[in-house]
Amino acid sequence: MTAPILRKLDDLREMTNGWRMSGESIGVVPTMGALHDGHLSLVAAAKKTCNRVIVTIFVNPKQFNNPEDLKNYPRTEEEDARKLERFTVDALWVPDGDQMYPDGFATTVSVAGLTDVMDGAYRPGHFDGVATVVTKLFTQTSASDAFFGEKDFQQLLVVRRMAADLDLPITVHGCPTIRDIDGLALSSRNLLLSDRARTLAPRLFEELEGIAEGLSKGEAVTTLQEKAKDRLLKTGFTEIDYIDLRAQSDLSLVEDTSKPARLFAAAYLAGVRLIDNIAV
Ligand code: AMP
Repeated sequence: MTAPILRKLDDLREMTNGWRMSGESIGVVPTMGALHDGHLSLVAAAKKTCNRVIVTIFVNPKQFNNPEDLKNYPRTEEEDARKLERFTVDALWVPDGDQMYPDGFATTVSVAGLTDVMDGAYRPGHFDGVATVVTKLFTQTSASDAFFGEKDFQQLLVVRRMAADLDLPITVHGCPTIRDIDGLALSSRNLLLSDRARTLAPRLFEELEGIAEGLSKGEAVTTLQEKAKDRLLKTGFTEIDYIDLRAQSDLSLVEDTSKPARLFAAAYLAGVRLIDNIAV
């Protein structure tokens, strides 16, 4: 069933008011479109948990620190709507730009601490853009539940912190990373990879797995990280922003896995920035 595509806030509110009055739970799945099976796994989780499901598609200019990246970001709305048909979601919220950022818009939601490191350090302003738009998506949709991927683990923690700090009445669910059969984490940006780059891209995940294996044998994380970076650069990756072992709870750097930790990586391949992370 094709879900109605709503572009004006008044129309969205009219729809959700009825649901709220009858006590129905509302799940929201925020996306920037170019939907793949990773996004669809969030939709499936939302359908399982909530009476009503809203999928949002908004390529949020405020979270792009690089204008070229914003310009090249894939936009495939019709295909996205088709992919959602089998889930019978209740609405697609695809706000017009002025519904999100009307003239005079002047508010920024900024989460401290968690955003100092990794993508926060390498993409200035990115998480302010994320926290601002997600706050708006939560209030616009009146959702009781929100679904985010562990693929963007730092984002998941930032959104959880923001929702807790602002007393937003919403439960933030984290869902596992969906991968292609060769291990590459699904990402809308994978569409931008050339055929050759696509064959090399799974190396990032392979290196994370290699480091995890080394750690389990008691090898030092710094040595494992340096070797992995060298191999990636020899393979054809052009720049490695980070390969870090960090605590799962607060993203502080750790040297072993005595408490729950994750390996995080961000690296450029053929001009495309890939990120990934795994639990260790
Ligand atoms: P995006 O459209 O890239 O902003 O992503 C929208 C949501 O989908 C975010 O919560 C992402 O973490 C999630 N997501 C993206 N890729 C994957 C994946 N491979 N597996 C699971 N969730 C994902």
